[in-house]
Amino acid sequence: MKKLDTLCVQAGYTPKSGEPRVVPIVQSTTFYYEKASELADLFDLKADGYFYTRLANPTVDALEKKLCALDGGTVAIATASGMSATLLAILNVCGAGDNVVASRAIYGGSYNLFSVTLPKYGIECRFFDPDDSKENIERLVDDKTRVIFAETIANPTIVVLDFEKLADIAKRNKVLFMVDNTLVTPVLCRPLDFGANIVIYSSSKYLDGHAVALGGVIVDGGNFDFSSTDRYKEFLVPDESYHGLVYSSLGKTAFGVKCRVQMMRDLGAIMSPENAFLTNLGMETLALRMERHSENAKKVAEYLSKHPKVEWVKHASLESNPYHALAMKYMPKGQGGMMSFGVFGGSAKAAEFMEKLEMIAIVTHVADSRSCVLHPASTTHRQLSSADLEAIGIKDNLIRLSVGIENVEDIIADIDKALASI
Ligand SMILES: *Cc1c(COP(=O)(O)O)cnc(C)c1O
Repeated sequence: MKKLDTLCVQAGYTPKSGEPRVVPIVQSTTFYYEKASELADLFDLKADGYFYTRLANPTVDALEKKLCALDGGTVAIATASGMSATLLAILNVCGAGDNVVASRAIYGGSYNLFSVTLPKYGIECRFFDPDDSKENIERLVDDKTRVIFAETIANPTIVVLDFEKLADIAKRNKVLFMVDNTLVTPVLCRPLDFGANIVIYSSSKYLDGHAVALGGVIVDGGNFDFSSTDRYKEFLVPDESYHGLVYSSLGKTAFGVKCRVQMMRDLGAIMSPENAFLTNLGMETLALRMERHSENAKKVAEYLSKHPKVEWVKHASLESNPYHALAMKYMPKGQGGMMSFGVFGGSAKAAEFMEKLEMIAIVTHVADSRSCVLHPASTTHRQLSSADLEAIGIKDNLIRLSVGIENVEDIIADIDKALASI
């Protein structure tokens, strides 16, 4: 296998003689065939090809293949957003009466999906504290559990996932282990290498990297044997809505194919060709960017940890961080650009500090090339009660800092000036 930085540039698209060197934007909803039988073979999955962009499109396909190569999966599906990736992946295996066992330390949007929206459709979510013991977490799993869900590095609490602990529970109970790897990317950590079965991305973050294209990706690891358990009955019986296909008979592509031919067909939410093009372009520099994001963040974290006006700093590169050992085990090359810290003086001082910044902007986004900050308690997480915030580890003075790829001296100078003025 080629190295990850090579795959970021080259994987997913190999032109034939005379074709465009760069993956083109195929801006067409549908595809032409001379014979009806050719189309019939596509519907029967007897032939590979495109017929309708809701199910597959060449530009989107190139991006999907790149993610598959980077993560070592069997099928990838690009979606309209990170939220739709999570939703489709969950609905692919869950129905009314089933449950998801999820870490409390997850992205606010995912927490809301699990705690408010999915229950309306009869899917229960049981949250665990990521620092809890294996025994206590395993107690939440029962015969209706379909997914164990966590983030590699959680947004914005910067908790690092203990893969081994959760993979053990998942394997013993034959439950799918689904990991949102958005803030780390396959360049720094490949969840499938550590026991995950399905990997989820919001490609709106580091994969695109420039804050231009919303999107998500689901990667099927192909490492879960649906025929080894009766937990996923829908995979074992013919799908009458897809002329009797038995998904488990597809082996390593069962999850991914079902997600495409059933979930995408019925729920839509595929990534647009133009967004796939932009994401693919951004990903050519992913390996370079992740290296710089990680280096810069480490230096900023060290600077903040020594500043008298800073109460606390969380970044897994710091040796004093409780997740440092886990980070060295699962993402030794770098821990990404996301960090959080608190200034003395609570919510008001946090807001004052942010307004004093000049280069680092206040935006509802993270993980692109430009450094930015956000105060989750008053923005992205404002729908949560203070008890909920406390439960997921978000203090009122928490400032989420996404360290960009600018020169680190300029980043630190901006922070230094703002801290001096509060
Ligand atoms: C942003 C984000 C999402 C949601 O992705 P969208 O593309 O905004 O829908 C999911 N998980 C994590 C960790 C995120 O940071």
